[in-house]
Amino acid sequence: MADNLLTVADGLVVSMEYTLRLDDGEVLDTSTGGEPLEFIQGQGQIIPGLERALYGMGIGDEMKVAVTPEDGYGEHDPEAYEEVPTNAFPTDIELESGMELQVSDQAGEVYQAYVAEIRPDTVLLDFNHPLAGETLNFEVKIAGLRAATAEETEHGHVHGH
Ligand code: ZN
Repeated sequence: MADNLLTVADGLVVSMEYTLRLDDGEVLDTSTGGEPLEFIQGQGQIIPGLERALYGMGIGDEMKVAVTPEDGYGEHDPEAYEEVPTNAFPTDIELESGMELQVSDQAGEVYQAYVAEIRPDTVLLDFNHPLAGETLNFEVKIAGLRAATAEETEHGHVHGH
């Protein structure tokens, strides 16, 4: 099948131009001025709500997709905060509000956390994703579609040019 007759389907390499805005119109991310995003469709390489909306699109097709928190980075969980004594952090780290940290629990499980607030003797960590609770408004355009190579399929990612 000629590439220009392809539509987005599992296992194809999708090349996608995109702009991502929050509900207030703030542009969070865009491929404008750079390279389109490339990924293998159907492998969870992009957020589920967006991936699902792309099926059947052809090269040159454009679409607006509003991804709810449920299909994006989850709802904001007011319980997902933890106050940690400042002296539990290595002294060579300069803690700043908004900073991203890797935190491991006693079982050695690693979590991503953000510094929500620095208090006199403690630090409040937020375990929510920074985009939790946000509706993600994508404008996308399919810039290219092609079959993945055997090697890409085996590796589960797109190889560079
Ligand atoms: Zn590889």
